[in-house]
Amino acid sequence: MNIAFIGLGNMGLPMAQNLARAGHRVAGFDLSAAQMASLAEAGGKAAASAAAAVADAEIVITMLPASRHVEALYLGEDGILVHARQNTLLVDCSTIAPEAARKVAAAAAKRGFDMLDAPVSGGTGGAQAGTLTFMVGGASSDLERARPLLEKMGKNIFHAGPSGAGQTVKVCNNMLLGILMVGTSEALRLGIANGMDPTVLSEVMAKSSGRNWTLEVYNPCPGVMDNVPASRDYAGGFGVDLMLKDLGLAVENALAVGANVPFGGLARSLYDLHSKAGNGQLDFSSIFQLFAPKA
Ligand code: NAD
Repeated sequence: MNIAFIGLGNMGLPMAQNLARAGHRVAGFDLSAAQMASLAEAGGKAAASAAAAVADAEIVITMLPASRHVEALYLGEDGILVHARQNTLLVDCSTIAPEAARKVAAAAAKRGFDMLDAPVSGGTGGAQAGTLTFMVGGASSDLERARPLLEKMGKNIFHAGPSGAGQTVKVCNNMLLGILMVGTSEALRLGIANGMDPTVLSEVMAKSSGRNWTLEVYNPCPGVMDNVPASRDYAGGFGVDLMLKDLGLAVENALAVGANVPFGGLARSLYDLHSKAGNGQLDFSSIFQLFAPKA
């Protein structure tokens, strides 16, 4: 298949490489020439521009930082909706506001294009291993067209509902993840302040009603688990600034649809403080440090 892949960053590059290694013709475009060179090493082709990348594509996949980049790339005067050929399926895998996803899909539909929002979970490790989870919004017939390609990049592919629903699921999931990480950190710190061994405390809570993924699989307290960011100075993993972005999307979306997310808003403020203290690049489990007792 002829695929255009635009946005070859930490996530997009390994996803595009997996498509190229599976034998597809991938024309990639990124603002960084180095990223395009890495795609070429995996058998893809570096395009001179986004317009050139999409010119022959049967499917366009985008993996960009945020809503404004996606809107500019699709809706701009020189954008994808102007240059893609008819019958091309458009798939945006970026994490963006559900409202932005619906706006771009509606503009695409006006020009005769079908579009899916297909944000992912699984991080850069999942992107490299081809084991991402896709949360897809749009028509199920379009998802079936995209499925063989999504299966080369991920192992769980969910149809969430109509346009924007993939982004809604992603926003809800990551808001809950952020809240759970803050809550787990707080509970562990309370136990430690009482003299508890955090490993014992974690083991007991993991078999009790406080159990959750951040406690059982991604424990934020250094030394409790091997092979998690907490046990390597919070390096790697899912960054504080990415969690801050996703919590911001949750709060913005709640305002847009009239929902209340008091804990989501509080988690966003705590991650904001933590980021402004210089921790934006650390893994998001480093929020545990925010609850450290005074020296
Ligand atoms: P990144 O910053 O590493 O990559 C984004 C890429 O887009 C960059 O290489 C940048 O040069 C490129 N770009 C920006 N504007 C462009 C344009 N107009 N044309 C071409 N290229 C352009 O970000 P990432 O970590 O790859 O994340 C991408 C998306 O995936 C984000 O929405 C993020 O929230 C989401 N996400 C990231 C992770 C993660 O662990 N990194 C996990 C799940 C979802």
